[in-house]
Amino acid sequence: MLDLLKATVRTVPNFPIPGVQFKDITPILANPKLLRYAVDALAEPWKEANITKVIGIESRGFILGAMLADVLNAGFVPVRKEGKLPFTTIRERYGLEYGVDTIEMHIDALDSDDVVLIHDDVIATGGTAAAAHRLADFANARIAGYSFLIDLTFLDGKSKLDQNLRCHSLIQY
Ligand code: AMP
Repeated sequence: MLDLLKATVRTVPNFPIPGVQFKDITPILANPKLLRYAVDALAEPWKEANITKVIGIESRGFILGAMLADVLNAGFVPVRKEGKLPFTTIRERYGLEYGVDTIEMHIDALDSDDVVLIHDDVIATGGTAAAAHRLADFANARIAGYSFLIDLTFLDGKSKLDQNLRCHSLIQY
């Protein structure tokens, strides 16, 4: 089933810019059996971790992240690009290949009682997940670990994350 999951990811060359091999997960999302399998397999390592909140990173991290939160009986917290969240936010900047980007989270989304799982569909350079970690830190929440459907291991994104925490992915390239 894991092989089928990987085979169902569609690699789109030169999207959104030349040189990027974009990992398109929409064929997985469109397949009910694979979608169910992916969510359950993503949840499996965290079943006993008492996760109270899943952070999903805009925008593809919202889809599986919210489903993961449901399976883990946790709440869901969106981390969004600058200017999208309506209430008071905290923000973090992070480096891109060229320039910087900013993500935000509502100031009251997490508190010190929360045990947080950070989810995105893909980890590439790791900058986004590391910035999401800093947002959760700022809110004094405890971060349990990181969850990705796909790890582009050749970019070594994991090296930007907390090495003491579990970083789980289902598919590696
Ligand atoms: P990162 O470089 O780890 O900060 O990734 C930045 C964001 O872009 C994350 O939300 C990833 O899901 C997304 N992303 C980066 N590279 C790819 C790729 N090759 N295919 C699909 N999504 C990507």
